[in-house]
Amino acid sequence: MTGPNFHAFRDFRWEGVDHLPYKEVGSAPFRAISRQVLFSEPALACQLRYFEMAAGGYSTLECHAHEHGVMILRGHGHCLVGTEVRQVGPYDLIHIPAQAWHQFRATEGEAFGFLCMVNVARDRPRLPGPEDLAALRAHPAVAAFLDETPR
Ligand code: MN
Repeated sequence: MTGPNFHAFRDFRWEGVDHLPYKEVGSAPFRAISRQVLFSEPALACQLRYFEMAAGGYSTLECHAHEHGVMILRGHGHCLVGTEVRQVGPYDLIHIPAQAWHQFRATEGEAFGFLCMVNVARDRPRLPGPEDLAALRAHPAVAAFLDETPR
């Protein structure tokens, strides 16, 4: 399968799509996560990305005005959305509303990957300050989730 309109899938990589490993250390805390931008067509006004984290990896805890539509494709993990923590696995759908704190964490022992749809025009994520973390920790399930995410 070749040509600009076709990208064959193999082992959670797509032919002709750049695989962008995130830095392990950066301004935002995350671990062992990579990114592939699958669709970025101006006329669609959205991007579809595939994020994958290694066993025990996690995404940045963040919030923003734009929304995400997520479908898990591989492995198992936990996700925080707002004040809700869920165990998630293949083909589960997760809507992340505007201004909801969110974070994904891979279960130990397996890679965890998901599709994430996002508007092309979007604001920058905000990271939690001490007051945000205190408010999140007021919810026992969220506090447990945060404690299980190594920092
Ligand atoms: Mn986000």
